[in-house]
Amino acid sequence: MSVKVCKFGGSSVADADCLRRVAGIVQSDPARRYVVTSAPGKRGPKDDKVTDLLLLCYESALRGVGRSEVMSEIANRFAAIVDGLGLDLPLADVLDGVERGIADSAERQLGPDFAASRGEAIHGRVVAALLGWPCVDAAEVVRFDGRGRLDAEATNRLLQQRLGEMSHAVVPGFYGADPTGRVWTLGRGGSDVTGSLVARAVGASVYENWTDVPGLLVTDPGVVPEAKPIRSVTYRELRELSYSGARVLHEDAVFPVREARIPVRVKSTSDPDAEGTEVLPVSEDEAPPTGYDITGVAGRNDFTIFTLEKAQMNAEVGFGRRALGVLEDRGISFEHTPSGIDTFSVVVSEEYFAEPGSRGALAEALQKAVDADTVEVHRHISLIATVGRGMRQKLGMAARLFGALAKAGVNIRLIDQGSSELNIIVGVADAQYDDAIRAIYHEFVK
Ligand code: ASP
Repeated sequence: MSVKVCKFGGSSVADADCLRRVAGIVQSDPARRYVVTSAPGKRGPKDDKVTDLLLLCYESALRGVGRSEVMSEIANRFAAIVDGLGLDLPLADVLDGVERGIADSAERQLGPDFAASRGEAIHGRVVAALLGWPCVDAAEVVRFDGRGRLDAEATNRLLQQRLGEMSHAVVPGFYGADPTGRVWTLGRGGSDVTGSLVARAVGASVYENWTDVPGLLVTDPGVVPEAKPIRSVTYRELRELSYSGARVLHEDAVFPVREARIPVRVKSTSDPDAEGTEVLPVSEDEAPPTGYDITGVAGRNDFTIFTLEKAQMNAEVGFGRRALGVLEDRGISFEHTPSGIDTFSVVVSEEYFAEPGSRGALAEALQKAVDADTVEVHRHISLIATVGRGMRQKLGMAARLFGALAKAGVNIRLIDQGSSELNIIVGVADAQYDDAIRAIYHEFVK
């Protein structure tokens, strides 16, 4: 029989009503045998995610504050869910244990991972009680190394062993533990990764990722409210789109299922019969057409471009290595390196420059390393990726893209086309980001 792994995101499991819907979805298809859950998310725009409340508790514990009001808020949220569902699941002892664990991790300066993980840990039990299934503690089956990096292979083995003996199970998302039992998390939105690991381990026929949007949209509906849904996307396209800022699936969620060639279906709990978006484990040539020339357009703000200019740079051997070595020494990852005849630029996310003076220090170090004639620093740049398997080997795509931007009055500061021809990336001023996204969308999606 085919096996489906279902991961439910925070807003899909935010309260008792949502959870009733989730139970209906799971019970409507006997192939849905493994469920991965997030912690309760926001019930509305002004609400808090339980994970954020837990992080606040950790901060209070660091400051030595005793039982905080926030902890009571968390307890109330779970109590409302358990009562609303009519479950017989006493959580007082569990919550006391969480509170002690948070205090202990703060005292030992272990970081916020334990605290952050408890929303999923508790909610896993709630969802399991609701479905009448067993809950597997992710600390026992999702393995990290001692530095908090996921060990995907060990995890696969552990999950296979454990889930191989269980016809049905709930696995809390987002966290795991190292061999000493120390809890680590997978980064925000990391339950998607857990779902993907579980899908791979049980050899699922599909990994269903349930959320509150009707699948992936061609672009951010915050910028283009009428953005159309994407019916199907290849893994490579999805990787490009999520790297570039489209936020539906966690970036790392792609790898385990991709390797195992398992399709992902992104679906909405508020409209379970709608098709959603299918992420296909096939090459771009095998994938069906999307109906448009592009698959999606996504972007991220707040990059800085460092442009080094030096006469005769093109003839100098080792220039790029020396410049990039400066970034490597400082642990800075770069996004792109557009270059000209006598110029070499590196694009770096602004997140590296939180410390005052660090941007200028990097510019200076780059200048010195290559003995550049000039270094220019341009801040507040957005990178926008137009992605699509339909773009490959098609004449005039770049012309249409640049034409649309020109017509919208958007000045292009940087251009980068991957040699896969799967995307064209442009850099524009942050202030022109929305205009650029709208112009590209309306050019290609009619
Ligand atoms: N609860 C975690 C977060 O808010 C992880 C997840 O939902 O995937 O980021």
